[in-house]
Amino acid sequence: PNPLLEVDNLHVTFTTHGGTVQAVRGVSLSLKPGETLAIVGESGCGKSVTARSLMRLLPEHSSRITGGSIRFKGRELTALNERQMRELRGSEISMIFQDAMTALNPTISIGEQIMEGIVRHRKVSRSEARKQAIEILKLVGIPNPEARLKQYLHEFSGGMRQRIMIAIAVVCEPSVLIADEPTTALDVTIQAQIIELFKKLQERTGVSIIIITHDLGVVAKIADRVNVMYAGQVVESGTVDELFQHPQHPYTQGLLGSMPRLDMEKDVPLTPIPGTPPDLFAPPKGCAFAARCPYAMKVCGAYPPEPVSVSASHTAACWLQDERAQNVFQPPIKIN
Ligand code: SF4
Ligand code: MG
Repeated sequence: PNPLLEVDNLHVTFTTHGGTVQAVRGVSLSLKPGETLAIVGESGCGKSVTARSLMRLLPEHSSRITGGSIRFKGRELTALNERQMRELRGSEISMIFQDAMTALNPTISIGEQIMEGIVRHRKVSRSEARKQAIEILKLVGIPNPEARLKQYLHEFSGGMRQRIMIAIAVVCEPSVLIADEPTTALDVTIQAQIIELFKKLQERTGVSIIIITHDLGVVAKIADRVNVMYAGQVVESGTVDELFQHPQHPYTQGLLGSMPRLDMEKDVPLTPIPGTPPDLFAPPKGCAFAARCPYAMKVCGAYPPEPVSVSASHTAACWLQDERAQNVFQPPIKIN
């Protein structure tokens, strides 16, 4: 099927006292109906900024989409104004966050918060909205929903709060659900339940999911495809099997070796990747991973690698994959 959401060459900058940070530097991704895409990478790699750009939930004064396109169902989202975006948020694209206590309003009952979206997007009566709120709470696994509608967030456990945030996000049946570290703050048992809930909702409604995480266990359980981000760019993209079994980019290989995984023996030692990500005030002109890469070549410091197809569904942006690498320093062959 055609992609539901297509991001092409997205650039996002932040202005700070210290200068301009190039937080997202040419990200492309696509999402098909009913698919789950994971975006993984270390903190600060631009994964949350990418996700928030799709919803246009970036700080208004300090951030800017400086280039690229975001097409959703044939519409160019970067061209929409705030009023048009507000219509889309919640009804077409929804987002959930790590912490419900800061993402939702702790001073308004959960019933009011769920019904607000229903009334706004569906233009139904309050009693109909209330019925739908009860239904969605049942669906996400909140026991005794009629009574709990009147309660406030602090009266729920962490796992239940995540369920409520998910209920609010999906009640108007959006076609895309973006989840930014949705299980990070939860203990392992609850994490697994929330992942199961995502799968159940996807089966019921066909919603496409973008999940931002640094947890490869979560990726293995839920994702169809994975984009690995580093220093504001997608460095490798493929199916879960391709990336876990045959990672091609040295950063992905390092990431797999440095993070705990479900499918690994418990006592396999983890090896952190030495070094730190580059300064995005002044990104390197060649490969952003070069300073940490055990395979770095002369070409890597000189020119940024472009994504190369490893298979029909798998790309890696690394000079090791690019046949042109050996010719770059032998004119007249030109890259770009
Ligand atoms: Fe390493 Fe070069 Fe590949 Fe970058 S392009 S990851 S430096 S081999
Ligand atoms: Mg984040």
